[in-house]
Amino acid sequence: MKAFINGQFVRKDAEIIRLEDRGLTFADGLFEVLRTAEGKALFFSEHIERMKNSAAELEIDFPYGFEEVRGFAEELISLNGLDEGELYIELTRGADINREHRFPPKGTPSTFFMLAIPLRKIDRNNWTQGAKVVTFDDLRHRMCIHKTLNLLPNVLAKNHAYKNGGYEALMYRDSPSGRYVTEGGSSSYFFVIDGKVVTPEIDNILPGITRSKVIDIAEKAGYEVTERRVLLDEVLIADEVMIASTVSKVMPVRQVDNRIFKAPGEITTRLMELYEDVFKREING
Ligand code: PLP
Repeated sequence: MKAFINGQFVRKDAEIIRLEDRGLTFADGLFEVLRTAEGKALFFSEHIERMKNSAAELEIDFPYGFEEVRGFAEELISLNGLDEGELYIELTRGADINREHRFPPKGTPSTFFMLAIPLRKIDRNNWTQGAKVVTFDDLRHRMCIHKTLNLLPNVLAKNHAYKNGGYEALMYRDSPSGRYVTEGGSSSYFFVIDGKVVTPEIDNILPGITRSKVIDIAEKAGYEVTERRVLLDEVLIADEVMIASTVSKVMPVRQVDNRIFKAPGEITTRLMELYEDVFKREING
């Protein structure tokens, strides 16, 4: 298996990341996860644009142009003979021999690498009968709008869900007006409340690529979609709950902690179908 790093295709197990890399020492970097199918990296522009925008804001050098990355990505997918899989991209602020918190001198090269790996195994029943999710305190920082490498709280949240028989976490934060939900360890959430599609607003959550596709298809299908703060108490009496992410696509939720939901509900079923159409169009388009 091959990986791509800083302009070269190398053996995936090659030991070529510098130990002083700020990705290792400070988690000072960004990542993306794309689906691959039929030799392509799907929704490529959306993912790379998200990474490039965050890199610009965080002053991390993004070393390639769009088409250059696409070329490298497709070559990597082909070298690994990957069909349905995942393309992982990581960009860090590069190696910093002094391990100083402040940014290294201008011109210090960033580190950019990609892995093309098989799609992770997910129980197919999750899509037909719904997944269980488990609530967990959102312990993260205040820059969750960027897809940063600081994933320890997400790891803890998802691990807590797995330990309790769940597939994903539903993270929440407390506020004077009550406990509100944010997102999953690696997914966005949608709820059906009073016949309307509701999703947490972009207020310190990742602007998910799948989330934006789902908003778009739901609106085009004639549903009223609202992005707003959603209280956990509202979720527990919602009619339908669903997860959206690159890897999970649109997935119904049948249980939040001890509360059981009809899964998949009517609107979830419709959005799952419509998302599959968008997904197929992206592969064939
Ligand atoms: N929220 C978080 C915290 C994530 O890490 C992810 C994906 O990894 C998502 C949401 C879903 O984003 P996307 O639809 O771009 O995969």
